[in-house]
Formats: sequence, C-alpha cells, structure tokens
Amino acid sequence: MKTYDVIVAGLGAMGSAALYQLSKSGVNALGIDRFGPPHDLGSSHGESRITRSAIGEGEEFVPLVLRSNEIWSELEEATGNRLLKQTGLLIFASGTESSVMHGADILNDTIRIARAHGIDHEALHENGLRERFPDLSFQEGSSGYFEPGAGYLVPELCVETNLQEARRLGAEVSTGETVIAIESARGTVKVTTDHNNYECGKLVLSAGAWIKKLLGPRVGDDEFRIFRQAMFWFETEADYSEARFPVYLKAGDDERSSYYGFPSIGGSRTIKVGIEQFDEETNPDEVDRNVTEAETDAAFELVSKSFRIRREGAKAKTCLYTVTPDYGFVIDFLPDADNVLVVSPCSGHGFKHSAGIGLLAKQLVMDEEPYTDIGRFKFQGA
Ligand SMILES: Cc1cc2nc3c(=O)[nH]c(=O)nc-3n(C[C@H](O)[C@H](O)[C@H](O)COP(=O)(O)OP(=O)(O)OC[C@H]3O[C@@H](n4cnc5c(N)ncnc54)[C@H](O)[C@@H]3O)c2cc1C
Repeated sequence: MKTYDVIVAGLGAMGSAALYQLSKSGVNALGIDRFGPPHDLGSSHGESRITRSAIGEGEEFVPLVLRSNEIWSELEEATGNRLLKQTGLLIFASGTESSVMHGADILNDTIRIARAHGIDHEALHENGLRERFPDLSFQEGSSGYFEPGAGYLVPELCVETNLQEARRLGAEVSTGETVIAIESARGTVKVTTDHNNYECGKLVLSAGAWIKKLLGPRVGDDEFRIFRQAMFWFETEADYSEARFPVYLKAGDDERSSYYGFPSIGGSRTIKVGIEQFDEETNPDEVDRNVTEAETDAAFELVSKSFRIRREGAKAKTCLYTVTPDYGFVIDFLPDADNVLVVSPCSGHGFKHSAGIGLLAKQLVMDEEPYTDIGRFKFQGA
C-alpha cells in the first residue's frame, strides 16, 4: 500500500491550492481527482471569477482574499502566467430595491467593510454613475461602489498553475481516479479509490459538490446544499471591453433580480453574466447541464435593463454552488475524525479566496498556527 504524509482528494480551486502549498513546504503529498482538472464539470470553470477585497459577505473573509492576492502574484512571478486582471469592480443598486446577495446587504456592507479595512474605493451616486458609465442604464436613485484594485481571476489557468507548480515542487498528481471510501483510525487515514488503496497521516477533502456524497451521514443533511447555476454570454451593442469596463455586481431585491458579470474579455464582443438561484437543489451526478431558452430569455430581460446587449447568439453553461446554512465556508476537521480536513466549495463566492484557503489547509494539516482566525469556518452542526 502506498503511503503519504497528506493526500488531497479533489483538485479544483481549493484542492489544487492546498497541494501547491503542501509541495512548497516539502510535504510528501498526493493529489487525486476523478477527472482531469481544470475541467468544466465542477465549480471552477467558465473563464472568469470576480475578485474584490472589501468582502461584504463578512469581515472574516478579508484576510483570506488579501493573502490570496499575494499568492496569485507569487505564482504569476514563478510561472509567467497572468492569473489576475485588475479591471476595477462596480456594485450598483437602484434607490428603491434592497441589495441582497449571499445573505448580505452587498452594497452597504461592502462600503462599510472597505472603510473599516482601508480598502481603496469610491461611493458613487446616480449622477456620478451616469457620468462614469455612459453605456449603462441606471434607475432613479441608484447608488454604487467602485473598487479600483478589484478584477477577475482566470479559474482554469489558476487551477492549472497550482498543479503545474505542485508537480514541479515534488507532489504526485493522479487524475481519472475516484476516491470511493475514507476510513480514519488512530493516526492514519485509509483512502480507497477505484484503482488503489492508500494510507496517509492527514487527508484534505476538497471534492467540491461531490463532498456531500463522500461524507454521507457523517455530517447533517443541511450542512451542504447543492444548486445548479447558469452563466450566460450575451453579444454587446456597446463597448464593454475590459480595458475600459470593470467587473460588476447588480444588487436587487432578491437573488432573482441580482446578477454579477464581467466585461468583454480578450477582444470578444460578449459579456458574461451569472444569476444565482437557491430554490432547486440538485446533485453533481444528475444535474441537468443544459440551459433552456426560457432561462436565457429571463436572463436577457433582467440584464438588458442596464446593459446594451442582444438576445440572438447568446450562449450559456451551468455550474454548481455548494452552500452552507450561513452562505459561508467550512474549513474544519470532521467531527468524528481529527485527521480529515474538509475544505468546502464555499457557497458560490470562494474562488477569490482559494489561494489563501490552500495555505490555511496546509497550516491546519501540518499543525501550524493558522494565519487567520478560523472560528467562522467550523461545521455548523458541530
Ligand atoms: C457559476 C459560478 C460562478 C462563480 N463566481 C464566483 C466569483 O465570481 N468569485 C468567486 O470568488 N467565486 C465564484 N464562484 C465560486 C467558486 O468558483 C467556488 O467557490 C470554487 O470554484 C469551488 O472550488 P472547489 O475546489 O471547492 O470545487 P471544484 O473546483 O468543483 O473541485 C472539486 C474537485 O473534486 C473532484 N472530485 C470530486 N469528487 C471526487 C472524488 N470522489 N475523488 C476524486 N476527486 C473528486 C472534482 O473532479 C473536482 O475537480 C462561482 C461559482 C460558480 C459555480
């Protein structure tokens, strides 16, 4: 039986970042993934992920994103890959709607947290918004937030770069191999896959939306809920190119009237937008990966109130959110196994934090002092 100090099960955003950190510290580590990451069957695909430093979802996330930004820079320097592009971020909301996103009042909470943490930003009002963004339509009484240092990450390239560096630094990576059982007993974890049996001192479980299935009854049924999400690409009738237009969040009264999106990237004439839904649960093995014309119609109707876009030629893709009861993160050892660290897929807002979460995972499994307080990332039922 092959043995390792640490095995990382699942090599998406979180697992690849953890494997990179482990290999950097010289740990004898193996990473296993059922597919060949980066791939488009989990939660880390679709060419772009917003990153912002004032995290309206909660102050506990700010150290994670700040540390992540340092790690992305370090990886960019080591590999020459451009992972983070700074376009600035606009959050805007009409005067009459509340601004609900990820359980936060995203506009006002973001401004509050930017002020508290000294993050460079501007609070904008209707006239300022119209002057600054003439190709957007704003409703009366709109207000907004602009963060110049924000932008987007290229998710597939981030995962690929983590794995490339992990391999270079000595980690083993096995793809096309599925973990089917884990058994923790006195100082070791037995990991059974469809090909092999392994033993390790610590296991990092970062299996994305499959985590619920892997953990089974070890955690409560509501600990993780999985929701299919859709991303849409619409052709544009104005210049929203990344050189002159930021990433954005439009906050509305509820999830269905809020969305987030990206400028036209790499010379394309399309913008990508995502609308969140938390009504219908699914699982990653049975999820319907087709997006219907009706879904695309509804997205167009909402987004075209603000953006000059065309319905014809729209494209769409699905992705998965795995959500905790408080729309937060779980970075915690299993209640019944203190050598199995669960790193959850982070409720639809984790990518920007993934590099810093990888470092946290390494520190926790190596019994080092974590660089930030992890009190808010415990299992909710624990
Ligand atoms: C549409 C969409 C938009 C988003 N937008 C943003 C954004 O703008 N900003 C932001 O910060 N975050 C965003 N997020 C959230 C972010 O992308 C996720 O938090 C993050 O990608 C989760 O990464 P993960 O590693 O947990 O999961 P994944 O990337 O899915 O990785 C899990 C891996 O585990 C593997 N695996 C599963 N089961 C097994 C097994 N049994 N054995 C071996 N391997 C296994 C899978 O193959 C997969 O590679 C968005 C998410 C979605 C879906």
